[in-house]
Amino acid sequence: MSGEQDSGPVPGPGPVAGSVSGPATGPGPVTGQCHCGGVRFTAQLAGPLSDAIRCTCSACRMRGAVILFADTAGLTITAGDDLLTEYRFNTGTARHYFCSRCGVYTHHQRRFDPSQYAINAACIDGLSPFDFAEVPVVDGQRHPLDHGGGDLRVIGTLRYVPTDEGLGLRQHRDRRAGD
Ligand SMILES: [Zn+2]
Repeated sequence: MSGEQDSGPVPGPGPVAGSVSGPATGPGPVTGQCHCGGVRFTAQLAGPLSDAIRCTCSACRMRGAVILFADTAGLTITAGDDLLTEYRFNTGTARHYFCSRCGVYTHHQRRFDPSQYAINAACIDGLSPFDFAEVPVVDGQRHPLDHGGGDLRVIGTLRYVPTDEGLGLRQHRDRRAGD
């Protein structure tokens, strides 16, 4: 269609990754941005949205991001390269990036697989952490590269359970306390 914008398809409305058996992303890249919009990117994800994980490493557990993966060649910063700040710690292998203006973590080059970036799923246009009903949690605290190799180990699952009750927060707490 000649009227379409060239920003590429986004995951689309509604729940996009209801479970670990959720739908594939389909062809084409996704677009994303930090909170202030200064940093923008396009990414060709390495797998379906159902590949999303969370990680218990000291950085990931603090920022709490759901992450998706792209080959390093599959991520292009389309705006705000000058706003991105790099942060490294421990072995210094992983390169973590965040927007120096709004502070939002956008992506990092993985220690486990430096040929890939992890991307903050919440930065992807049309996608929210609350679109993932279940997210496997991997044991970044006990990183395979520090413990004889092998794959990252899944040690749990985070679930998001939506409710349509719309209770006030105080009422919700009182009700839980009464259980
Ligand atoms: Zn920003």
